[in-house]
Amino acid sequence: MADDCLFCKIIAGEIPSNKVYSDDDVYAFHDINPAAPTHILIIPKKHLTDVSASDANDQALLGKLLLKANQIAAEQGLSEDGFRYVINTGSDGGQTVYHLHLHILGGRALNWPPG
Ligand code: AMP
Ligand code: ZN
Repeated sequence: MADDCLFCKIIAGEIPSNKVYSDDDVYAFHDINPAAPTHILIIPKKHLTDVSASDANDQALLGKLLLKANQIAAEQGLSEDGFRYVINTGSDGGQTVYHLHLHILGGRALNWPPG
């Protein structure tokens, strides 16, 4: 756990969240400011500031993050019409919380390219 990390505090239960899924490695919860009818964040319990802070030791963890996201997307009924995963990275990437998180967005047709 990193000091002063919002998502570490959510994992620790110090800040409330609307949980979707949890196991030893990952935690998923509803985004507080949804950008789509379904907007879930899935995060590693290990504090990584962003995806580029990961290395070969995190290979299994990153794979699990994606596979659990697939499971959540299916359980949320997004498989048929599709969905989008987003990992904002750094300031130009629009990252605002510096604990790696994968956005799962679905429930409407999403625009491309992003702004
Ligand atoms: P990003 O801009 O990629 O860093 O995304 C951060 C996301 O975290 C945003 O979509 C926020 O709405 C979301 N967020 C911020 N605080 C909370 C919170 N307390 N609970 C759930 N989601 C949050
Ligand atoms: Zn953290």
